[in-house]
Amino acid sequence: MRRHLSLALAAAALACGRPQQPVPDLSGYRLVDLTHAYNAETLYWPTSPTRFQLEQLAFGPTPGGWFYAANAFAAPEHGGTHLDAPIHFAEGRLTADRIPLEKLVAPAVVIDVTAQAEADPDYRLEPSDITAFERLHGTIAPGTIVLLRTGWSSRWPDARAYLGDDTPGDASNLHFPSYGEAAARMLVEERRVAALGVDVASIDYGASQDFIVHRIAAAADVPGLENLTTLDQLPPTGAFVIALPMKIEGGSGAPVRVVALVPRADGAR
Ligand SMILES: [Zn+2]
Repeated sequence: MRRHLSLALAAAALACGRPQQPVPDLSGYRLVDLTHAYNAETLYWPTSPTRFQLEQLAFGPTPGGWFYAANAFAAPEHGGTHLDAPIHFAEGRLTADRIPLEKLVAPAVVIDVTAQAEADPDYRLEPSDITAFERLHGTIAPGTIVLLRTGWSSRWPDARAYLGDDTPGDASNLHFPSYGEAAARMLVEERRVAALGVDVASIDYGASQDFIVHRIAAAADVPGLENLTTLDQLPPTGAFVIALPMKIEGGSGAPVRVVALVPRADGAR
């Protein structure tokens, strides 16, 4: 039956004078949303002068008798689930609109440090965590999106629990886990990964004062994905991530919707 169908398709393609193009079959994957919703509780860096704002412009029946709704929104680039463009920490590097899509649509690995972070809120990913991961799952390939899972997204949107401190205007006493300098160098400079993602507010840990991981990634035109969620739904390898930021021309970052395609465990269609 299938053979007859493909022969028929081939014949149809010949009749059209061009080869049959295969259509990607996504039925063997489940779609997982790795994005927090934007709302009044969306977390921003303590020094951010503004937050996400939604202004209702219309909501209700029109004189013509139909329903109509529209809002205006405003937000800082860096807050909620968002992208860090390389120019955020490196002059002359890529802005949000110019990041090649290949860095944002790519296979992903998930490195799980929830146990280490549970024991130490200032935990930073170490090269030994990467080599331990690679012993089990193989060397991280160039062009991979690395997602660091700390478990911190369960604390969202409690600012004090999530950031370690909720003093407005003061970012000097934050505590949450993230990447460490040597691990970032290994991933960016040796593995040549596409992007660094994490389920906390920054690819640097909360206590960082020099933002060295941001600087390492930005210098190599590697974007960051921050405030991700639902990383527990992803396997260590095998997922495919699509992270498309709002295309802000010249932007140093942008809100981003991040989804993962995860192979169905049973192979069911
Ligand atoms: Zn950011």
